[in-house]
Amino acid sequence: MNATKASAEKERVLITGAAGFLGSHLCDRFIAEGYHVIGMDNLITGRLKNIEHLFGNRAFEFYHHDVSKFVHVPGPLKYILHFASPASPIDYLKIPIQTLKVGSLGTHNLLGLAKAKGARILVASTSEVYGDPQVHPQTEDYWGHVNPIGPRGVYDEAKRFQEAMTMAYHTYHGLETRIVRIFNTYGPRMRLNDGRVLPAFIGQALRGEDLTVFGDGSQTRSFCYVDDLIEGIYRLLMSDYAQPVNVGNPSEITIGEFAEEIIKLTGTSQKVVYKPLPKDDPMQRQPDITRAREILGWEPKVDRSEGLQITYDYFKSLSPEELHEKEHNTFEGYVRK
Ligand code: UDP
Repeated sequence: MNATKASAEKERVLITGAAGFLGSHLCDRFIAEGYHVIGMDNLITGRLKNIEHLFGNRAFEFYHHDVSKFVHVPGPLKYILHFASPASPIDYLKIPIQTLKVGSLGTHNLLGLAKAKGARILVASTSEVYGDPQVHPQTEDYWGHVNPIGPRGVYDEAKRFQEAMTMAYHTYHGLETRIVRIFNTYGPRMRLNDGRVLPAFIGQALRGEDLTVFGDGSQTRSFCYVDDLIEGIYRLLMSDYAQPVNVGNPSEITIGEFAEEIIKLTGTSQKVVYKPLPKDDPMQRQPDITRAREILGWEPKVDRSEGLQITYDYFKSLSPEELHEKEHNTFEGYVRK
């Protein structure tokens, strides 16, 4: 830790997607660890509100930039964390080309920057590289089951390309690279209307609407609280391990059960209504975290009841305008065939 060093002496970290859910938490973590953080975001899905508490902090600066275009950062860089990307199925539908570009061209630009600076780079990959998995739980050795031309393909294939490009820079250029495969994560600063299941259910409960379960609710997910995820990412970056590592919470639940948990948590008198299952929606997902346990000494610490309470308290503190902002919360034209 070098938290007491003057800003000019601190080691510098570039975090892309800094105004997003995970990026903003990473900014907080690296500043707390004593680094100078350069946050970068094009603010398409990120929100300045997530980092407004950092403006005025001498250990933080912000570049409004799209990393799909050439990235220039003056001065030395110790680490780069590439977290810029739309990250919810509704966002991929709305901005499919940007999603492809940030995972492919954006990754290439940042790998080039890492090479030029002699920086170590960690890229945010995803459980979506496993697609609708036929192996359960998913280990890092599983190659996946992805529909390249389906609605999720723009995200899944961009992330798969990202992994391939990252490994190529590692093997060909000897770049220090890290790949984290992130499973469903939740916590404060998620966008209420990003379409993902937890903000969708909590938003519906707070607005007095019925909870929309897609399909019959038998599909599963495994939800990790954000603080646990950030700890896993931090440990991976500091490790010397260049192969992909799953980071997520193996505690698996059906979406129907999850809706019931949210009804209990919020005390809403609303009920569950069923909507068509989106196309290519994975039927089950659970990380095998043996590798993270063995290599990083990491496992999640926050159980769902605790994490959900913190997250609910955050959403309750939002203004009425934020609560009723509808954005693009619809899956029209995106139904499983
Ligand atoms: N889901 C749901 N109701 C909603 C939003 C999502 O039942 O209002 C379901 C969705 O079909 C999926 C699961 O919840 O099976 C998780 O969806 P999310 O978009 O959060 O993440 P992902 O599918 O990428 O894991």
